[in-house]
Order: sequence, then C-alpha cells, then structure tokens
Amino acid sequence: MRTRCCHFRLTGKTPLLTRGEALFLAIGVRASGRKNLKPHPEGACPLLGRDGRCTVYAHRPFGCRTHFCEAAGGMYPRKHVADLIQRLEALDEKLGGDGSRPLEGALAAVL
Ligand code: SF4
Repeated sequence: MRTRCCHFRLTGKTPLLTRGEALFLAIGVRASGRKNLKPHPEGACPLLGRDGRCTVYAHRPFGCRTHFCEAAGGMYPRKHVADLIQRLEALDEKLGGDGSRPLEGALAAVL
C-alpha cells in the first residue's frame, strides 16, 4: 500500500509477470470495469488509481506482493520464495507462456 514502487519511471523498475499472473491480473482489471490499459500520465503503473492506490490490489502480481517494493521492506530472501517462483514457472509453462515479461506487455497480451 506504499505505492512508491508503482511509480515505474521514478524507480526505473517494472514488475515482471508470468502468464498465470497476467491472467489473474486481467481478471482484476476486467472486474474494475476496464477492457484495456491506458498509460499513466506520470509513467507509473497503469493500474495505479488517481487516489494513489492500486486499483487491482487483490489481483496484484507476485512481484508486487513479495520482492519489488523497497519501501515495504525490499526483496524477500530468495530461499523464502523459491518454491513459489518454481510453481509460477511451472504454471507459466503449462499455460504456454514464455517466461516473465514486464507488467504492461504481459497484461496487454491477455486482455
Ligand atoms: S499492480 Fe498495483 S501494486 Fe503492482 S505496480 Fe501496479 S499499482 Fe502497484
């Protein structure tokens, strides 16, 4: 909920999503009444709301939950999330994905 990490232009970093994460995120986007993404005027995540909060919080990707945001404690130690990463990679393969992609491209591909 700190959202500094949602300002991609500011941080120079963008979360990477596997296909399963993108599909789950797309459910959240559609549930919020959108069918496509509009770029954020300040180069932040297109899912960051005008109120400065994530508009798809319950559907946010793994990186937003675990190891992307310095302000929320920074990266989780790899050993704590290795199993989850392997499961996401296995799911990606099952879903015909080709590995992690930056959020905007990964989401646009499934919307
Ligand atoms: S999906 Fe939500 S939490 Fe993740 S970067 Fe975008 S606005 Fe921030």
